[in-house]
Amino acid sequence: MKTKITIVGGGLSGSLLAIYMAKRGFQVELFERRPDMRKTAIYQGRSINLALSTRGLNALAKIGLDTEILADAIPMYGRMMHSKTGELSYHAYGKQGQAINSVSRGRLNQKLIELADGFENINIHFNARCIDVNIDEAKAVFELEDGTLHTVQSDRIIGTDGAFAATRGKLQITDRFNYSQTYLHVGYKELAIPAGENGSFLLEKNALHIWPRGSFMMIALPNPAGDFTCTLFFPYELFDRLQTDKSIVDFFEQEFADAVPLMPTLLADFKQNPIGNLVTVKCYPWVKADKIALMGDAAHAIVPFYGQGMNCSFEDVVVFDQMIDRFGDDWNAIFDAYQKERKPNADAIADLAVQNYYEMADKVADKHFLHKKHIEHELTELYPDKFKSQYELTTFSLSGYKYAWDQGQKNDVLLEKIIADGGEEKIKDAVYMEQLWHLIQ
Ligand SMILES: Cc1cc2nc3c(=O)[nH]c(=O)nc-3n(C[C@H](O)[C@H](O)[C@H](O)COP(=O)(O)OP(=O)(O)OC[C@H]3O[C@@H](n4cnc5c(N)ncnc54)[C@H](O)[C@@H]3O)c2cc1C
Repeated sequence: MKTKITIVGGGLSGSLLAIYMAKRGFQVELFERRPDMRKTAIYQGRSINLALSTRGLNALAKIGLDTEILADAIPMYGRMMHSKTGELSYHAYGKQGQAINSVSRGRLNQKLIELADGFENINIHFNARCIDVNIDEAKAVFELEDGTLHTVQSDRIIGTDGAFAATRGKLQITDRFNYSQTYLHVGYKELAIPAGENGSFLLEKNALHIWPRGSFMMIALPNPAGDFTCTLFFPYELFDRLQTDKSIVDFFEQEFADAVPLMPTLLADFKQNPIGNLVTVKCYPWVKADKIALMGDAAHAIVPFYGQGMNCSFEDVVVFDQMIDRFGDDWNAIFDAYQKERKPNADAIADLAVQNYYEMADKVADKHFLHKKHIEHELTELYPDKFKSQYELTTFSLSGYKYAWDQGQKNDVLLEKIIADGGEEKIKDAVYMEQLWHLIQ
């Protein structure tokens, strides 16, 4: 008999997982709380676009979707920083040609659902909210649109129901389940810069724009129609202070003067759009026997400052699939190997993401930091085989996030040593560098 898998949550990771599992011939029942995203706009006001990079692309390539998604994406080759007085400074993300890609969350999810819908062995159930799970029997209970309850029995359940997963809630009350949830002190609000005439881009198109202001920041990512989605990351107590139209406009004019003339709907957007919360969720174990496993944000919600939440979730699916290759139909071994491989990496990207908040908001305006970044960039160009930056390892490679974290710590020691020795002139001297490589080994 075919292995039957219930997937709870048809977001980015759930729909991708359904396709991977169906390709193996399993019978997949995919349940999504919301209506069909191909017929309804469900993403308004919540991270409309996302940065897709190497790990996510690798996962999409395995189901033949990378080229199609990239065709509609906008490559962002670097960060464009906007100072308070409107000066611009640019920092490339990687080597020549390396970019992160701005993609529409809605379109990506729709594409995945569309592809999943084409498989005979995937049944998709929309408007079906998981309200209970019996782990030992791999049974899940769903509340349907008309209020009726529907119970599904399968061989195993995979919870891809996001940061506030109902499936995780059930694991949480089992023995020795570790759990922590930490909110960042800033929330976010989405705003807009519309396209110019004939769909032209009013800011540099191929960059991720950042207005770093120390305790808060705004960023903007380009969309194919010529507009930008801006996100203001802002401490809650400051949101509380912006209560009147005048205080909102004054604040923006003071902090983001170059952006305000490009934001005709600023006031309405600011007042209408919700404040989103940013949470890091860490938990373990992610599985119980061979019955239930958590994946994506359900296992590891992270803050968005490294642009890796989706990429990491997609990589979970790839690793899970590799474990099936390795262990065949020994599902206890598959589940256990999957969680052991992913947990340290998920913890590392969670910490990297929080660290990157402070880097983006504050340090990108700091001279010492920029000096280090400059040397780092030179090293990646001069010694591509010997030196890889933490950003490159995280964003443009498939090596573990944990490795990227560890290597970043070592790189920092090397960069500080170079600066203490008198700086960047010396790094072109291969003999000088030869004495230092041991610091990053
Ligand atoms: C502001 C912001 C910006 C971001 N930017 C980036 C970025 O640039 N790059 C990047 O890689 N990541 C980014 N992320 C992270 C990314 O959005 C998540 O990591 C990704 O969506 C995780 O996918 P998922 O499928 O695990 O969860 P989700 O996308 O949250 O999907 C979960 C699905 O489960 C459904 N669901 C929930 N509860 C139930 C239930 N009880 N029953 C049935 N269905 C249920 C939901 O409706 C949803 O469709 C960002 C996140 C935020 C908040």
